[in-house]
Amino acid sequence: MDLLNTLVDKGLRRELPTREEALAVLATSDDDLLDVVAAAGKVRRHWFGRRVKLNYLVNLKSGLCPEDCSYCSQRLGSKADILKYTWLKPDEASQAAAAGLAGGAKRVCLVASGRGPTDRDVDRVSETIKAIKEQNEAVEVCACLGLLSDGQAERLREAGADAYNHNLNTSESTYGDITTTHTYADRVDTVNKAHAAGLSACSGLIAGMGESDEDLVDVVFSLRDLDPDSVPVNFLIPFEGTPLAKEWNLTPQRCLRILAMVRFVCPDVEVRIAGGREVHLRTMQPLALHLANSIFLGDYLTSEGQAGKADLEMVADAGFEVEGAGEVTLPEHRVEAAGGCGSRGSAGGGSVCGSHEGCGSHEGADACGTAAATCGTAGTASAPAAQEARTDLVAVRRRGAGTDLAPNA
Ligand code: SF4
Repeated sequence: MDLLNTLVDKGLRRELPTREEALAVLATSDDDLLDVVAAAGKVRRHWFGRRVKLNYLVNLKSGLCPEDCSYCSQRLGSKADILKYTWLKPDEASQAAAAGLAGGAKRVCLVASGRGPTDRDVDRVSETIKAIKEQNEAVEVCACLGLLSDGQAERLREAGADAYNHNLNTSESTYGDITTTHTYADRVDTVNKAHAAGLSACSGLIAGMGESDEDLVDVVFSLRDLDPDSVPVNFLIPFEGTPLAKEWNLTPQRCLRILAMVRFVCPDVEVRIAGGREVHLRTMQPLALHLANSIFLGDYLTSEGQAGKADLEMVADAGFEVEGAGEVTLPEHRVEAAGGCGSRGSAGGGSVCGSHEGCGSHEGADACGTAAATCGTAGTASAPAAQEARTDLVAVRRRGAGTDLAPNA
């Protein structure tokens, strides 16, 4: 397919595809899906080989958020039956992090619910970062604490944070439909603050919220403009008790196309499959490793993932290898641009929450259009088609941080 040859060439040259080309990827047919995966897989292997970076989430503070992000089980007024607790102590967080690191993770993502941290919260998290780094000097630490005020990114950096996560989540034009208590511009501002402080920026999206293909391409192009080192791709977990509980509109095939599109637009960036991997990709998860070079090990913030052991088996069975602590995640040119470290921080790179479920959250439209000439496939993708609600695959997290039970890692 001409489209895919063009996209592979561009991906290897780090050249931005056109919007029409990105839309055309989302509009490809199921008959072409393996070709799409193979093409984006070439780009992934060129920049990241067969390495899979494992990241581990520690939810420092769960639920009771005053913000109203519709996708989030921790939001204002959420009826989701999630764990609710206030700040973990540094030694509790360090213990949870140690479980993930022992399981093979090289990055720990410290996430807290809320609009943004107070200066006292930054102190707490700084103590936690120090406690984690005392136990394991090589670990990459990413903080995900919501909107940052002036000076807070610098203080986190001084405390040893390598990265900061804050997701854009969706397109600027639809952001107001998802959240009313802060703006898209607030989010962009926080990503820029992290960058400016020398933190590795991590910023991603959530797919499956009823957005169009145009929205998805918009947010991914906006992310490319922000130039994060890592891009977490969350697939909405439609939690019962949240406004988006009925938004079951993703298929494994759609998730693969989205990941392929992100890879083509952000070829040399750490693309991470975040929340919703097990729920939406299901048995197709191993194919997604040909597109993304990073996943979360074990559980998410408020929901359970598959067993950490199953994550490791999947990586090995699919012919990939877990990235070691001594290996540098990003391609050389990005590391040099960042001043020589693993993924921009002194030892590493970004994280997840941005939309507070996978990470980075605080944590379909028309396709071929002009691209029809090159695409040769699919037609339109207007409103996302309703899919079977797989509530049976959504398990609220009841173990690990904030409980007396051992974490999943
Ligand atoms: S995504 Fe973050 S800011 Fe938004 S409701 Fe959830 S915890 Fe609060």
